Amino acid sequence: MKTRIRIIGGGLAGSEASYQLAKRGYEVELYEMKPHKFSPAHHNDNLAEVVCSNSFKSSLLSTASGALKAELNILDCLLLKVAEKCSVPAGSALAVDRELFSKAVTKELEKFDNIKIIREEITTIDTSVPTIIATGPLTSDSLSKEIAKLLGEEGLYFFDASAPIVDAGTINMEKTFTTSRYQKGESDYINCPMDKDTYYAFIEELTNAQRVELHDFEGTEVFEGCMPVEVMASRGKDTLRYGPLRPVGLLDNDGKRPFAVVQLRRENLEGELYNLVGFQTNLTYPEQKRVFSMIPALENAEFVKYGVMHRNTYINAPKHLNSDFSMKKYDKIFFAGQISGVEGYVESIMSGLIAGISMARKLEGKEKIYFNNLTITGALCNYISTENVDFQPMNANFGILTPHNELIKDKQKRKEEYSKRAIEEMAKIKEAIDNGN
Ligand SMILES: Cc1cc2nc3c(=O)[nH]c(=O)nc-3n(C[C@H](O)[C@H](O)[C@H](O)COP(=O)(O)OP(=O)(O)OC[C@H]3O[C@@H](n4cnc5c(N)ncnc54)[C@H](O)[C@@H]3O)c2cc1C
Repeated sequence: MKTRIRIIGGGLAGSEASYQLAKRGYEVELYEMKPHKFSPAHHNDNLAEVVCSNSFKSSLLSTASGALKAELNILDCLLLKVAEKCSVPAGSALAVDRELFSKAVTKELEKFDNIKIIREEITTIDTSVPTIIATGPLTSDSLSKEIAKLLGEEGLYFFDASAPIVDAGTINMEKTFTTSRYQKGESDYINCPMDKDTYYAFIEELTNAQRVELHDFEGTEVFEGCMPVEVMASRGKDTLRYGPLRPVGLLDNDGKRPFAVVQLRRENLEGELYNLVGFQTNLTYPEQKRVFSMIPALENAEFVKYGVMHRNTYINAPKHLNSDFSMKKYDKIFFAGQISGVEGYVESIMSGLIAGISMARKLEGKEKIYFNNLTITGALCNYISTENVDFQPMNANFGILTPHNELIKDKQKRKEEYSKRAIEEMAKIKEAIDNGN
């Protein structure tokens, strides 16, 4: 038997990492605090509990989540295989019977003699032991403190709300302008003006739109300093005009000051994704689409990520992690799952899989695999490890891939081509791994 590896957290990422290491012959100690202690969102004793929606999103190759799943299947992903077996009808999406799924994953891992499942809360980290920390967005408090110590206090983020992100190619640029506030320096923002009638109609819909019901664990104390845009709007019809939508110092192409301005901030280096500044929100996804599409420049915008609100522990990955999820400072320590800066079920599974393979390669003295930005997997690995002052967890999307060489005008075709290219690239990477490279 090979080296003993500690995996902390038996969620989606920790379970996948355990499988990847066990099948490569490593001794895995998988620590899971349930059933002795439950996070506010976890309820059953099994590993790989799916905490909220039962959907692993679309499997269509015209979607980034479909492409990511296809890539992970090439890399022999256990959790996706189990998900297929436990799937329930959901159109083109992969949705699972949650109870069946987590039971089946637990059973699969129990079959391995070299995986020891230890039901215990871990509160300290020994940097001399190869360890993957995969304790998720609701990492227990004592371990959160230990991780903060490991990173230096400012390294651990507690993130409670996010704003939606749109695909730059779908913004109606004819209804925007790009000067900077008070015309000082370069403008990094796209400005989306609103006239008086549009603004007040928008505020009316925003304040009355349906919100996501908050669970007990999402107490109000976590929202301090990060007020949802709909709450701010409900304080007065002009509040946003004096807040994030203030037009002061912004002159449109005719040199006039608009009544209100929504600003879009670039989300990735290539400028393919933009985030709605100040639009942290707790509206349901369909309501975000409906209401935010009232902003004239966003009338046909595609939302690649909607705003969400819940407690979320994640590290400042660009500062602390390499693209294989290992720490820059302690080479035996890896992070995986939502805490490592990816967001979503399948993305968390992906990071567990890559951290598992990468840990094995490190212990075998092999070179790190470089996943480039032709694959969604690679683009996510590179996103979390590339300097970014406004870093926020990221989910699968085509905007983070290397753009096509040629312009493919048809949107559907463009997406399918991205997937085709990603799958071909992943097949090559898999072949290289199998050939011992
Ligand atoms: C409320 C909520 C709703 C979400 N809804 C969705 C959704 O609908 N769709 C989606 O794609 N994503 C969703 N996410 C985001 C994310 O995809 C999931 O949280 C996902 O489960 C993350 O996987 P993970 O492996 O990183 O963590 P988890 O699956 O949470 O696994 C972490 C495990 O670590 C254990 N643990 C924690 N601390 C310790 C400790 N100190 N010692 C030992 N064990 C410990 C926990 O008990 C848990 O089993 C949601 C997140 C939250 C918080």
